Amino acid sequence: MTDKPIAPPGEPMISCDACRKEVPLSAAFTPEGAEYIGHYCGIECYQAFVAEAKRREAAGRAGKP
Ligand SMILES: [Zn+2]
Repeated sequence: MTDKPIAPPGEPMISCDACRKEVPLSAAFTPEGAEYIGHYCGIECYQAFVAEAKRREAAGRAGKP
């Protein structure tokens, strides 16, 4: 029994912008041409990040005159 490595040696790792989990770059979800660019461990984290960013943006606008 051998543990299958998540990524081959030398594979660059990124940390998910939403949950900070480390995933190999090749396995990361990276939206192209999206409003919010980043690396995510999955589309669910990307969607969560976008929702949070929009919420913060809306809150920031509301707080300004
Ligand atoms: Zn994540």
